[in-house]
Amino acid sequence: MAHMALEMSESLEERCNRILRDMEGSLTARDRVGIQDFVLLDAYTSESAVLDNLRKRFNENLIYTYIGTLLVSVNPYKELGIYTKKQMDIYMGVNFFELPPHIYALADNVYRTMLTETNNHFILISGESGAGKTEASKKILQFYAVSCPSTKLLDNVRDRLLLSNPVLEAFGNAKTLKNDNSSRFGKYMDIQFDHMGGAVGGHILSYLLEKSRVVHQNHGERSFHIFYQLVEGGEEDLLRWLGLERNCQRYSYLVQGECAKVSSVNDKSDWKTVRKALSVIEFSESNIESLFAIIASVLHLGNAMFVADSQGYATLNNSPEIHWLSKLLGIPAQVIQVGLTHRKIEARSEEVLSPFTVDQAVYAKDALAKAIYGRTFTWLVNELNESLANKDSSRKTVIGLLDIYGFEVFSVNSFEQFCINYCNEKLQQLFIQLTLKSEQEEYEMEGIEWESVPYFNNKIICDLVEEKFKGIISVLDEECLRPGEATDMTFLEKLEEKMGGHPHFVTHKLADQKTRKTLERGDFRLLHYAGEVTYCVVGFLDKNNDLLYRNIKEVMRQSKNAIVKHCFPSTEPDSKKRPETVATQFKSSLVGLTEILMSKEPWYVRCMKPNEGKQPGLFDDVLVRHQVKYLGLMEHLRVRRAGFAYRRRYEIFLQRYKPLCPDTWPNWKGTAAEGVECLIKHLGYKPDEYKMGRTKIFIRHPRTLFATEDAFEV
Ligand code: ATP
Ligand code: MG
Repeated sequence: MAHMALEMSESLEERCNRILRDMEGSLTARDRVGIQDFVLLDAYTSESAVLDNLRKRFNENLIYTYIGTLLVSVNPYKELGIYTKKQMDIYMGVNFFELPPHIYALADNVYRTMLTETNNHFILISGESGAGKTEASKKILQFYAVSCPSTKLLDNVRDRLLLSNPVLEAFGNAKTLKNDNSSRFGKYMDIQFDHMGGAVGGHILSYLLEKSRVVHQNHGERSFHIFYQLVEGGEEDLLRWLGLERNCQRYSYLVQGECAKVSSVNDKSDWKTVRKALSVIEFSESNIESLFAIIASVLHLGNAMFVADSQGYATLNNSPEIHWLSKLLGIPAQVIQVGLTHRKIEARSEEVLSPFTVDQAVYAKDALAKAIYGRTFTWLVNELNESLANKDSSRKTVIGLLDIYGFEVFSVNSFEQFCINYCNEKLQQLFIQLTLKSEQEEYEMEGIEWESVPYFNNKIICDLVEEKFKGIISVLDEECLRPGEATDMTFLEKLEEKMGGHPHFVTHKLADQKTRKTLERGDFRLLHYAGEVTYCVVGFLDKNNDLLYRNIKEVMRQSKNAIVKHCFPSTEPDSKKRPETVATQFKSSLVGLTEILMSKEPWYVRCMKPNEGKQPGLFDDVLVRHQVKYLGLMEHLRVRRAGFAYRRRYEIFLQRYKPLCPDTWPNWKGTAAEGVECLIKHLGYKPDEYKMGRTKIFIRHPRTLFATEDAFEV
């Protein structure tokens, strides 16, 4: 051991050079195009240089680049053949910087850090809609599925983890103008590992599904994939049983966007995948039947047409849709009919049924369709969790994958975009707190000399949206408390009154001064960290209230469909007490998510979109530059370059490396800091390679640490 350590101390510099040489040797000329880690090169401090490098690499199909341990990925919009088993093998167990950047390298590094340090981690995957977040999260999961230890039992868990994806995507993803497979819900998935590194379980948290899509889609968009999969791919018998025709055009809820067919999506084969996945995940046949009965019911509901009677009230007589709804949901037709055309109101301590006009009935019908679908989605996630749960109570460590809907801007943006973009602000805030802010604070705390790097802190925008009593959500909730009086326009007026002076809020009155672009009446604009978005207030109050009439809930409670029964429990509190609004619930769930993430070690994948047209091989400089800017990559790079790639508490560092030095092995008598000092002197660290803080050693470059690690193998 002593000999080994001595050799190490003599050759640290050589060792570093050897690693670099090896790296060079293992790369082909193509792999070397550009610079694979921005931190390594002095020239890469300007935005243009970063952009040049990304473009150069992208043109060679090198879509990954590092900023230290942060992985930047540019969506190639084509298959690159870089996700094979062979590639996985190459990256398994290899030091992070020894091979060209890859999502597998990151996945492997996180995994091995988790195993050696027995702590919890998460990978935050961010970027705008269509940038490749969901693909990245799938690649990571696939890597673990292949690289983790395998036994019969573990393989079963692995299959379930993998197959939960197509199921969730079928029910929670849809074609939008930005992305043919856009996530319309937020997903956080914990993968649990035992102490041997076997994947033993998982848990999924889902966030705010965009259920308004069930009843309405903008031009060029679709509803959730599952509807089209069922209609296109469902077996003849099944469709007959569900009363469905094999023709999406027949269903009003599927043709709002006038694009039921999408060339990049194969609904038929996706149906087969989902069907198989449900069986492997061990959904019972009766649950699967109930699930499809619900999907079909939503389609039938969409086709139910109300006709005004002589007094102008909505009627639904003899509609075939009611027949199918009755059959599939197991509720008498008459009950459904009355439920869809009336509302129960209290009149002088008595409950009476008040008939709907046609418009009111359509509104109530859409609300029901959204509620059924939304609640079924929640049920589905719970079932998946049941199937992924690990019942054994032994200690486990986790890697969390966060894949949430990306920042999006359409020509018309509504409440849904407001929530999605707010969520992205929160994630950016988390990134800032965990990297730029905490990194700099840590140097300060540890007494490390440091020239601070300025950055834009988007907390001001988060506050604008969520601050108690003052933020946009509060104003919205207040208006929702004034039924009958408040409207979307009174909400906008209140916003203008309260937020008018805020630097990130623009009303139509101030539009010219702040952004030189005018606003329509009925719009407000937020200057988000990622760009400005104009929101149209129409529907904000309704969507935030998300009201479902009490009597229609009572109707659903009678259902014989097991899932519907479960989703509308008799224990549900009656609507006399106001439930929390959608935005407030979402806000609380994001607070919960932040807490979960803050307790874990962070890793980052920053996904970027090369062009707006989903085109392979096209690198739009302006678009990418904008993303480099708002993703905070330059600031991150500056902090990384000026700072230290690794830091370890003295105790942990000493514990791990003390065998490399005869003076610290086996027992060091002094303080941990003195031990580390002695150890690194022996190892031959140069003064500019590290700094000693109050409680930690800071190491400037990862290769120093790799060389130290390598010493164990000598
Ligand atoms: P959203 O926020 O809308 O959910 P997203 O960031 O999750 O967007 P993805 O669905 O992952 O975006 O990617 C969009 C499309 O881009 C994919 O369907 C695929 O066609 C392509 N794509 C993304 N990443 C890759 C990749 N690494 N290799 C090849 N194609 C990719
Ligand atoms: Mg996605």
